[in-house]
Amino acid sequence: MPELDRLGVDASGALHIGAAVRQARAAAHTAVRDGWPLLPTAIEHIGHPQIRNRGTVCGRLAHHDPAAELPATALALDARFVIAGPRGTRTVTAEDFFVTTFRTAVEPDELLTEVVIPPPTGRGWAFEELTRRHGDFATIVVAVLLDRADDTEAVRTARVAFCGAGPVPVRLPAVEEALTGADAGAQALASAARAALTSLAPSHDIHASAQYRREAAAHLLVRACTTAWERCS
Ligand SMILES: Cc1cc2nc3c(=O)[nH]c(=O)nc-3n(C[C@H](O)[C@H](O)[C@H](O)COP(=O)(O)OP(=O)(O)OC[C@H]3O[C@@H](n4cnc5c(N)ncnc54)[C@H](O)[C@@H]3O)c2cc1C
Repeated sequence: MPELDRLGVDASGALHIGAAVRQARAAAHTAVRDGWPLLPTAIEHIGHPQIRNRGTVCGRLAHHDPAAELPATALALDARFVIAGPRGTRTVTAEDFFVTTFRTAVEPDELLTEVVIPPPTGRGWAFEELTRRHGDFATIVVAVLLDRADDTEAVRTARVAFCGAGPVPVRLPAVEEALTGADAGAQALASAARAALTSLAPSHDIHASAQYRREAAAHLLVRACTTAWERCS
């Protein structure tokens, strides 16, 4: 089915990534790099080139590993998931797509046919990941999108998503509220980091304790927000 190979932007400005599109192809696509730079950056953190040349974007999302880079990225980008099967076609949000570890809204007799990402809203973005070695799955991921209010030092919208902090990727309202509307200075960043420390509830496993993950997430959040703000200034 040629539509499963679709990679491009529709008339409304949304990006479509079909089920057969490999990660390396999406990361190299000019429109993707220009419009949604968070996505290719996240893809470049997946394993190594050999992995990205074979793995697909949709396969990575459908095979939902909480330590993977793309689920948090899809959540930050407000991606929509088009699922087809014998009962028809439906579209679900990123909030509803990830159910728990290795489980999504896709039923055994269904296929995730494409991921649709809405048009970009702001210019500030950043992706930060903590891994034990280059190419490993993530201990913690933070994906940030900031939109700056015109001619001010205030943040109009903030979308911040974490992976590696539980069975599904999460956005934390307390973190986004701490960043939104504030003067994007040290005080706002400190409030956001405090909110991450108190709101995140990561699990403890052989790779890291819950407390280590919380503290790492707060540090990566400050770094990511600083970069995202510089990019929209
Ligand atoms: C050495 C190594 C290192 C890796 N490192 C990382 C890493 O750091 N980060 C990371 O995120 N990933 C990593 N991966 C995983 C890799 O990125 C693949 O993207 C991932 O396994 C999915 O591969 P795939 O697209 O070929 O799907 P497949 O392997 O073909 O499928 C995986 C599962 O998802 C199902 N599936 C696939 N596509 C769909 C669809 N469209 N609809 C419904 N179900 C579907 C399949 O039935 C299967 O159950 C690594 C893999 C290897 C081998």
